[in-house]
Amino acid sequence: MTVVGSSPAWPNPGGAQSGYLVEGPGQLLLDCGPGVLGRLRELNGGWPRIDSVVITHWHLDHWGDLVPWVWGNMVGPGKGTEKPELWLPPQGRGRIRDFGTRLGWEDMFESTFDVRDYEEAVPFKTAAGLEVVAIRLPHYTLRTYGLRVSNGDHTIAYSGDSGPDDRLADVARDADLFVCEATLLAPNPEGGTRGHLSAVEALEASEAGGAKRLLLTHRPSERPLENGFELARDGLEITV
Ligand SMILES: [Zn+2]
Ligand SMILES: [Zn+2]
Repeated sequence: MTVVGSSPAWPNPGGAQSGYLVEGPGQLLLDCGPGVLGRLRELNGGWPRIDSVVITHWHLDHWGDLVPWVWGNMVGPGKGTEKPELWLPPQGRGRIRDFGTRLGWEDMFESTFDVRDYEEAVPFKTAAGLEVVAIRLPHYTLRTYGLRVSNGDHTIAYSGDSGPDDRLADVARDADLFVCEATLLAPNPEGGTRGHLSAVEALEASEAGGAKRLLLTHRPSERPLENGFELARDGLEITV
């Protein structure tokens, strides 16, 4: 897995927002925030050859670069390349057509991607040859999902954005690697409905799920991290 972008809702200096590339046998991209497409182009020198993209939720830092992906596919270097699958949260096809109407034209995303909705808790096989299951998590009032990606032998779990919840342990369950957000310095400075985790809360979820390795991400660089945690940085590669 390559951390393509690890920034939170605002970019860290020089950073890309959420994007995690899982390779083997095909290429699977988890989230596609602003900055991710340029980084993917840097990785392979041309236009990305991604088999499947899976989006956790509709905050822009997790999907914004799907928009320039369309422009590059329509009139740029992506022209003529095969359509990647684009797996969206439930009812996502309607949502992305609505965004299309406002940002370009109604079926702009369908012109570039093979658009599908996933269902909560129903495993789906991606064109990258990896199985994914989406588990619903709390994130303010927005519908969002944590993802488990498996090749049958190994599992990578990804929290997306989430407040604390027992289901985070289900996302992390026995995973070889748990990529978990740790946006906050302290458990709940925001007040009200929870949307994010502190590092300690991420660790608690990881331990409750029995994950073998925890990689924290989505962390503002202004918020120092206590010792003993592993923090994602853009470009980090991990073999699972
Ligand atoms: Zn986010
Ligand atoms: Zn979010």
